[in-house]
Amino acid sequence: MLDVVNNENKLVDNFGRTVNYVRISVTDRCDFRCVYCMEEEMEFLPRKQLLTLEELAWIGRAFTELGASKIRVTGGEPLVRNNVIKLFEDLGNLPGISELVTTTNGSQLVKYAKPLKAAGVKRINISLDSLQADKFKQMSRVGDLAKVLAGIDAALDAGFEKIKINTVILKNRNHDEITDLVMFAGERGIDISFIEEMPLGVTDSHDRKEAYYSSDQIKADLENTLTLLPTTEKTGGPSKYFKISETGTLVGFISPHSHNFCDQCNRVRVTCEGRLLLCLGQEHSVDLKPTVRSHPGDIDKLKQVIRDSMDIKPKGHDFNLDVKPVIFRHMNVTGG
Ligand code: SAM
Ligand code: SF4
Repeated sequence: MLDVVNNENKLVDNFGRTVNYVRISVTDRCDFRCVYCMEEEMEFLPRKQLLTLEELAWIGRAFTELGASKIRVTGGEPLVRNNVIKLFEDLGNLPGISELVTTTNGSQLVKYAKPLKAAGVKRINISLDSLQADKFKQMSRVGDLAKVLAGIDAALDAGFEKIKINTVILKNRNHDEITDLVMFAGERGIDISFIEEMPLGVTDSHDRKEAYYSSDQIKADLENTLTLLPTTEKTGGPSKYFKISETGTLVGFISPHSHNFCDQCNRVRVTCEGRLLLCLGQEHSVDLKPTVRSHPGDIDKLKQVIRDSMDIKPKGHDFNLDVKPVIFRHMNVTGG
């Protein structure tokens, strides 16, 4: 009997993986246009197609009742959605949640770092691809480095349990800044993860195969000047971490191409329209919006739809830089 009850309140897929982590995208909009994430001219969803903040919180509640203890609020840029702090507060108050986290480009953190902390956000990831203002602008097309650096300072002041920097390295764009970025983070007691670019959506700015710079190359570059010690550190994500002995901080590598992590996948994503994506690199999905809208207040119905979705969670992604993208969703739609 106990087993039945436990299984009903857990999300387990056909490969025996337990899903306990959901990423909720609150908007596909953003104040940046990073070259690896979006095209220069983007068409965003009409606002009326988005789920309301209350509906997103309702989905978060269903997931926590199904055993998800970690929720990441992301986007697009989550902090450009109006009143988004209310969603953080609602999610932070869910009884089952132990980790409420977010990923941001940092541009709005001067305003929002303290309200996020007060809403219960424990850890925050801030994306930063360059420490040189002109290069930062080239990579984000419109971003202002000074604003992001001020945002990082504001996050440090707000006292989050953990701040991590996320960096996408593109060959011949920012690969010469790898060590500088690690030192910038280390001097502030911040960890950093390097992410291999994924072929999500079409990009008009560069050839992804030519720009590929593997985690192994990044690690080798760092080892020219720094000492990287293996660790068993796990943060519930796909990063493989090393401790930098000179700074005492961690450097992580997220390597969807060179070191596939799908066998340990513990997560799903919900887009701002309510589409439940079972895999970052595949199209398998279930639309939660009809259930949320046609059965308001019926959490059991929503939980059943989410539970059933586990049947179509695929074994893994299939990224291949030799073929044109098969996933037409850009990362801002997927929810990074
Ligand atoms: N706007 C926020 C930000 O930039 O942090 C949150 C959303 S963004 C989609 C989340 C993360 O995805 C960022 O760290 C970004 O660098 C990363 N990202 C975006 N497009 C990517 C791609 N094609 N391959 C790998 N990482 C990507
Ligand atoms: Fe915006 Fe984040 Fe995508 Fe950059 S990576 S365009 S900041 S959503």
